[in-house]
Amino acid sequence: MRQIAIYGKGGIGKSTTTQNTVAALADAGKKIMVVGCDPKADSTRLLLNGLNQKTVLDTLRDEGEDVILEDVLRTGFKDVKCVESGGPEPGVGCAGRGIITSINLLESLGAYTDDLDYVFYDVLGDVVCGGFAMPIREGKAREIYIVASGELMALYAANNICKGVQKYAKTGGVRMGGIICNSRKVDKEYDLLKAFAEEIGTQLIHFLPRDNVVQRAEIKKKTVIDYDPTVAQADEYRKLAKNIDENTMFVIPNPMTQDRLEELMMEHGFMEGLD
Ligand code: ATP
Ligand code: MG
Repeated sequence: MRQIAIYGKGGIGKSTTTQNTVAALADAGKKIMVVGCDPKADSTRLLLNGLNQKTVLDTLRDEGEDVILEDVLRTGFKDVKCVESGGPEPGVGCAGRGIITSINLLESLGAYTDDLDYVFYDVLGDVVCGGFAMPIREGKAREIYIVASGELMALYAANNICKGVQKYAKTGGVRMGGIICNSRKVDKEYDLLKAFAEEIGTQLIHFLPRDNVVQRAEIKKKTVIDYDPTVAQADEYRKLAKNIDENTMFVIPNPMTQDRLEELMMEHGFMEGLD
């Protein structure tokens, strides 16, 4: 069972990319569980066609300790198992606690069955606080992918996340599997992301184009693979899924300084023509 956590700046496309990649893997016959680790609880809605998944924390609050697995785990597209950890009310408490509670509950209810090929954690990765690392700290997620784009803030966040991952990688078994570029159509974005990934010691595992079909599918509460498996974007998610499935490059990341990151952005040219 491979356990993968997806990180990246807020709004970069973690939940969309995770669910579309999972849909592609499930379509190829893999058995998967997705654990949403975001208080927004929107990590599984495309796989569940919008079914409002009751979170683990809400279920525990309403039903006390007598929870059974079926209360918190729903089956979605191609039998993907879907769980939402939930979280505290906005501004109150720590999101990390909800994640630990959920992981522990899932474990005690026997959710991590041997037939699973993958567990994906869609993690609230905006702030590198204690909560961010929970799936790693709990010894669960072993493989990290970071969603980024050519925008400075996305790369800044990705570099910071690498600092967090590096810390846990040095003392434990967690490794970086790669950077996923979710394109924002920044000039020379592919070159920049490739250079960024290589400097960190990892790889650009796939470059996902920006395509409005993602939003058209989203409004229908579907992944692209579910909404229209024939479109080019569906193939892009299949390629990403295949690259992850066949990945053998797992490293301890080497984050860079802020100065070096800015230098890299200059070198890779989207500033050309400006002074
Ligand atoms: P948060 O940090 O808030 O959890 P996130 O990183 O999970 O955000 P998403 O919710 O997945 O981000 O995506 C944000 C928006 O970007 C969504 O409306 C989604 O439809 C859109 N989006 C993501 N990827 C693409 C893409 N490749 N092409 C077009 N739109 C995209
Ligand atoms: Mg999200």
